[in-house]
Amino acid sequence: MNVQISEMRGYVNIPKTIYCKFCKICGARPVIEPAADGLYVVKCPNDNGHYQTRSGLIDIEDWNRNNTVNFVSDHDLNRQVSF
Ligand SMILES: [Zn+2]
Repeated sequence: MNVQISEMRGYVNIPKTIYCKFCKICGARPVIEPAADGLYVVKCPNDNGHYQTRSGLIDIEDWNRNNTVNFVSDHDLNRQVSF
């Protein structure tokens, strides 16, 4: 996966070509945050209390599985088939 370190807050932006669901609580697009030991967390950029994956490999699948409740966006939904 090609990722770019964001200038802001040290997060890694998930490329737009990769489908990921928005935060089920606030609707933000998730970011990748470097964790200890070269691991990564996929998380909501707004609040650490919102869902985040365990540190490990970049696991957007896990994020998507756990962010399926309630939040519906009609933005981006048409682009989820671009793998
Ligand atoms: Zn959130």
